Amino acid sequence: MVRQLRNRGIRDERLLDAMGHIPRDLFVPEELRHSAYDDRALPITSGQTISQPYMVATMTQELSLTGTEAVLEIGTGSGYQAAVLAALCRRVVTLERLSELTQTARERLDALGITNVAFHVADGSVGWQADAPYDAIVVTAGSPRVPPQLLEQLADGGRLVIPVGPGPVVTLQRIVRRGDSFEIADVCDCSFVPLIGEAGWAEPS
Ligand code: SAH
Repeated sequence: MVRQLRNRGIRDERLLDAMGHIPRDLFVPEELRHSAYDDRALPITSGQTISQPYMVATMTQELSLTGTEAVLEIGTGSGYQAAVLAALCRRVVTLERLSELTQTARERLDALGITNVAFHVADGSVGWQADAPYDAIVVTAGSPRVPPQLLEQLADGGRLVIPVGPGPVVTLQRIVRRGDSFEIADVCDCSFVPLIGEAGWAEPS
């Protein structure tokens, strides 16, 4: 898997090392373990997905982590991305709207001895003000727009990586805070499950 990521242009050696060490097979349903190291997204429970390794790597690389950062992740899902982030920064806060996913993700990280991740069941479309500001924020679900609350919760110089767009294909954006202004760059096209919440998509009826 790491060789594939390298071939596709992932250059952050700390990130490649972390992804080489974290057992992705523990984060997928048992019947899909044989596919755990393929470079593709896989279904988890509750109709959600564990993102494709290349997408996890791309999003994480765009956060430019050195080891000292406070990071907010929105969309805990399986917990895999949180485990990768935990290896690369000081502290992770991860938010998930579905409590059953938080529960299993927490058990997995506990089993791996990862202790620098705080889990909350919450609508992450408005961020998590209590621990703000963050040096990096990553949203792992597609949002119709960039929630202003997330921009407000970024530290000066902080990076926000978020898939944004009106349809199933969204644009991954990297936004850097410089004082009160924000530099926005498009990274690539991708597809994600929807970010559902106050500043995201409406709850499906
Ligand atoms: N990072 C995950 C991939 C998650 S898929 C991993 O590594 O496995 C996206 C997740 O975002 C889903 O679990 C979904 O339930 C969650 N989600 C969607 N809208 C949300 C919201 N407003 N707040 C928090 N989580 C949300």
